[in-house]
Amino acid sequence: MYYVSTRGGTARVSAAQAIAQGLAGDGGLLTPEVFMRLSTNALDTLKEMPYPQRAVYVMQGFLEEFSAAELSAFAKAAYGPQRFDCPEVAPVHQVDGTTHCLELWHGPTCAFKDMALQMLPHLLTASLKKIGERKRVCILVATSGDTGKGALEGFRDVEQTRILVFYPKDGVSAIQELQMTTQEGENVGVCAVKGNFDDAQTGVKALFSDPELRERLGKRRWLLSSANSINWGRVLPQIVYYVSAYCDLLKSGTIQNGDRVNVCVPTGNFGNILAAYYAKAIGVPLGRLLCASNANNVLTDFIRTGLYDRERPFYNTISPSMDILVSSNLERLLLALSEDPAQVADYMEQLRTTGRYQVSDKVLQKLQREFSAGFCDDEQTKAQIAKTWKEHRYLIDPHTAVAFHVLEEYRRQSGDETPTIVVSTASPFKFCDSVLDALGVAERAQGLDILDQLTQVTGCPTPAPLAGLKGKSVRFTQWVERDGMAGQVEEILR
Ligand SMILES: *Cc1c(COP(=O)(O)O)cnc(C)c1O
Repeated sequence: MYYVSTRGGTARVSAAQAIAQGLAGDGGLLTPEVFMRLSTNALDTLKEMPYPQRAVYVMQGFLEEFSAAELSAFAKAAYGPQRFDCPEVAPVHQVDGTTHCLELWHGPTCAFKDMALQMLPHLLTASLKKIGERKRVCILVATSGDTGKGALEGFRDVEQTRILVFYPKDGVSAIQELQMTTQEGENVGVCAVKGNFDDAQTGVKALFSDPELRERLGKRRWLLSSANSINWGRVLPQIVYYVSAYCDLLKSGTIQNGDRVNVCVPTGNFGNILAAYYAKAIGVPLGRLLCASNANNVLTDFIRTGLYDRERPFYNTISPSMDILVSSNLERLLLALSEDPAQVADYMEQLRTTGRYQVSDKVLQKLQREFSAGFCDDEQTKAQIAKTWKEHRYLIDPHTAVAFHVLEEYRRQSGDETPTIVVSTASPFKFCDSVLDALGVAERAQGLDILDQLTQVTGCPTPAPLAGLKGKSVRFTQWVERDGMAGQVEEILR
């Protein structure tokens, strides 16, 4: 199986090359040329397997150059008990008769980024070996919170790698900041950047496109790479949990093989819901894919009208990991729907030059056959946290709450009562302040004491990785202006 650029401007490459490379030479995203197909029996076989084996089965269909033994070793290390706090890895919690919540936050950083970032380092280092690349890799990350910590945990002490994470000085929650600044490992670096997430992101992009920096580092046998969600090595492990959730519903007898199940996903960069689309494409009987957004509702408008327009105000919300105006992974969906890389290249060029594009009627029809969309504001998000807690004694974080809200609205408007998997992307304990606020607690504790407060109010235990922050010392305190970022890279690679 080969990988092609969404924009069609480069030759096809192998899976290992695609993962090692990250982005295609023409600026497009590397995407499988054809998709494997699961047989109906496959789901009945898979339902008897534990999560790591399900992962091997699905990933093997996309990674011809990797042996089953190799992938099994990766999956065991990535999803083992030292890393995930429950044997199911991605458990499905039944909320009511037709609503099932897929919890993707049982990993070391308590957010869904772990599902892919625990696997990516294995795939990346193996891919580099397979293509004969002898240089060591330095991973650069700009993060608005969850990706940075996920990547640090994934790459810590991985041989032949260094990782350096930049986060906006005033743009992450107190807990997210502590998670990063206390990071352990010999090959890690964390640095704040003055400004907002866009400043950090622009700065990292500038480092990637600085030929002199690349050359200087190359001479010292260092290669720059990214752990961003545009890398195929991040999308692929996410397909697995949709297959796995369907299998769990089969296994518990909730559904019969072939029954349709809808999926509702809190969406930012479109990586997570894209994986649901691919899971459906390879044969998991998924029904409608509900794309849930916060006040930054560019995707809601796009799915309803076919017009993608990023020229709009940017809002900082209580679901910050979804505060995004340009959803990079949408490009892969455009290729799947249009089957025309030249058209995708044209849309992306329009986006770059005018800030918007309108897809063709054919693409819009296909889009609306698969997807529905909705959004909500912060007040509705908080009301949803309170309601889900009151009605079901089920505690959800603000990102997950956006999805629950959008699902309820969809059901009211459409009358569609198909069983639905709601994707839960973070532990509520990562966002204690907003969650306690939603539960009506006006006087909130300071610092890490707020974790205990949320436990006292709800009786829910604090996840061990967050409780463990208390004993840790801060290792990284430096911050730089944007023009100081290159210096930090040279520093960590010294
Ligand atoms: C990253 C993230 C999202 C958005 O996921 P995408 O794949 O970017 O759409 C949603 N919720 C949480 C908690 C996240 O960390």
